[in-house]
Amino acid sequence: MLQKTMPRPILATIHTDALRHNLARCRSAAPDCRLWAIVKANAYGHGIERAFEGLRGADGFALLDLDEAQRVRALGWRGPVLLLEGVFEARDLELCSRLDLWHTVHCNEQIDMLASHKTNVPHRVFLKMNSGMNRLGFTPERYRSAWTRLDALPQVDEISLITHFSDADGELGVDQQMAVFVAATQELPGERSLCNSAATLRHGDLASDWVRPGIAIYGSAPDFPQRSATDWNLQPAMTLSARIIATQEIRAGDSVGYGSTFVADHAMHIGIVTCGYADGYPRVCPSGTPVLVNGVRSHTVGRVSMDMLVVDLTALPQAGFGSEVTLWGRAANGAVLSIDEVAHRAGTVGYELMCALAQRVPVQLEA
Ligand SMILES: *Cc1c(COP(=O)(O)O)cnc(C)c1O
Repeated sequence: MLQKTMPRPILATIHTDALRHNLARCRSAAPDCRLWAIVKANAYGHGIERAFEGLRGADGFALLDLDEAQRVRALGWRGPVLLLEGVFEARDLELCSRLDLWHTVHCNEQIDMLASHKTNVPHRVFLKMNSGMNRLGFTPERYRSAWTRLDALPQVDEISLITHFSDADGELGVDQQMAVFVAATQELPGERSLCNSAATLRHGDLASDWVRPGIAIYGSAPDFPQRSATDWNLQPAMTLSARIIATQEIRAGDSVGYGSTFVADHAMHIGIVTCGYADGYPRVCPSGTPVLVNGVRSHTVGRVSMDMLVVDLTALPQAGFGSEVTLWGRAANGAVLSIDEVAHRAGTVGYELMCALAQRVPVQLEA
């Protein structure tokens, strides 16, 4: 039998209070709308079951995966659940009927499946328009005929209208796609759902019935670095923390880590941290990526390896063996390092880092 051991000192913490706070922030940005909490990709890596308590104030949960939809129902959620990509094959509709899932309809094949589905209770569907993103949905020219076809089906109850913005977080904005959507849906009845996080925070006043924030409820700024999570008054819902398990004194000319990519130009005190790319910390983060040591800002030194990375302690004489290192999120002293800053150094976005938290990292839920 395996002996019970102490875990390696690395931990992800999910903050229920932050989820609640961020949800409230999104609500106040779009006070007249109902709100889907987007919990696809296992709640952006936070874990659906763990995130649920902080997000139960939402009006509904939206996701992609039928397994995840079942997990939301298993938590006792009786309210709306929306499948953002709709069904993938005909038998998925049976689960939609059984679990009362609302589903997106974005292509003719999905309408065909509905037309041959046997159900006593007609389904609520969200008809998707491709208003310019060119991923899913009917073009504006084909939208009305898709609506008419759906409307004629006894399997279909209410039809809501949905589209997705490609540039709500950027300079292009939403105006063009809004104009396309509005023109093509004039006189069509039904509720509207338009806004992801960026559009909710920036344009919460857009005429719609349901907003769909994802990243913002997890405490990341959708438009970093133009604006930060602090600017938007969002709090990190995930903290990744580890500890220092060794220190080294190095001299000018000494190198650190694989490839000797970092060479000290002065004497340094460095700490070795129990977090590496096998934990989900990006290997591409360059030397100089910010971290918090005992809640004080410092930075990485040299390459990230599989199980460890190195931080500069030269300006932190108190830090040493056992010190807390926050890779992103909230330190014990309350200081915050946004996941967006780390993602930016890695040339990516906070979304990817959250979703890539490795299986081997233990996760703790903070009520
Ligand atoms: C993921 C997703 C969202 C949420 O996007 P964020 O940028 O995380 O707010 C909204 N709508 C759809 C259709 C999505 O797929």
